[in-house]
Amino acid sequence: MRVGGPIGQLHVATATEHAVELVRAADLAGEQLLVMGGGSNLVVGDVGWDGAVVRMESDKIDVDGTAIRADAGVEWDRLVALAVAQGLAGIESLSGIPGSVGGTPVQNVGAYGTVTSDVLEAITVYDRETGAVERWLPEQCGFGSHRMSVFKRSDRWVVLDVTYRLRRAEQSGPVKAAPIAERLGIEVGGTAALADVRAAIIAQRRSKKMVLDADDHDTWSVGSFFINPVLAEVPAEAADCPSQPDVKGTKLHAAWLIQHTGFNPGYGLDFGNGTVALSSQHTLAVTNRGGATTADVMKFAAHISDGVAAKYQIRLNPECDLINCSY
Ligand SMILES: Cc1cc2nc3c(=O)[nH]c(=O)nc-3n(C[C@H](O)[C@H](O)[C@H](O)COP(=O)(O)OP(=O)(O)OC[C@H]3O[C@@H](n4cnc5c(N)ncnc54)[C@H](O)[C@@H]3O)c2cc1C
Repeated sequence: MRVGGPIGQLHVATATEHAVELVRAADLAGEQLLVMGGGSNLVVGDVGWDGAVVRMESDKIDVDGTAIRADAGVEWDRLVALAVAQGLAGIESLSGIPGSVGGTPVQNVGAYGTVTSDVLEAITVYDRETGAVERWLPEQCGFGSHRMSVFKRSDRWVVLDVTYRLRRAEQSGPVKAAPIAERLGIEVGGTAALADVRAAIIAQRRSKKMVLDADDHDTWSVGSFFINPVLAEVPAEAADCPSQPDVKGTKLHAAWLIQHTGFNPGYGLDFGNGTVALSSQHTLAVTNRGGATTADVMKFAAHISDGVAAKYQIRLNPECDLINCSY
């Protein structure tokens, strides 16, 4: 999003053992620690982060039959490209999502009807409380509710590597999203060549301004800024909002709530100092139009969230991680 203040000390972990050493050293020294991958989902306050940052850049990938084990620091989309090139199906729908492999279990990254836990076999984690390195199965990760896991909003565990179990196939799994099926010229539920699905997904993401382009402010975002709310009970005012069942209740579409409050794509250029606005193609994406501070972003997010709360009695919470800032 290109906002936020300076970092205290930056440590780059180039291998898994190195990451463990760096985290242990920071913990022993009693330093405040932020572990980051690609930084694609972070909004950092204008005051910055006055502690240590360990950036995961470990980059080993091992392919063993249909299992791929990747270090946390591997760029997620590099892994997807490799799987597609090797004829391994299962993550092609997750093409073009920014960030690292280690970031994917944190909010059980998902798109177009697939979530990474669908193909997760195991995760290696470092437990900062006990000092142990452990191999976890998916059922230990607390997936289930939308974009949730035990890792989300907790800094206890550092993800060191992730193993995915894919399928050897030339064709994709069923294509569940209508715009992608349309791009491929197939019915929803049909399949297509892995490389074609990857290309269609990236083209769709690009059209929605969900692929970073330094020259296009519509893409200066954290992706979806607000999380789709999951409610035990849906207020009567929101009865028309599209919804899906969730293990914790009912998941509503934040984009619909925002737009039906009256915040249309592109909204914001007349608000505040005009440095922050909704993307012109995606009402869930709060974008930096150039020169925004984090304070500007927070003010804008509060404005959107307050508007939705006033109309629908639903408070929109961030999907991204707010570090030393809030709205
Ligand atoms: C344009 C755009 C589109 C996006 N589209 C999608 C989408 O379709 N679906 C989706 O689910 N998300 C999407 N996102 C959100 C983002 O890509 C994911 O959340 C991604 O997994 C974040 O990875 P990262 O490495 O950048 O994490 P960071 O931003 O670096 O960190 C995010 C959080 O994860 C923690 N973390 C990162 N690595 C580790 C680790 N190794 N161990 C422990 N904790 C760690 C950090 O401490 C922080 O709390 C999008 C973001 C953008 C900018």
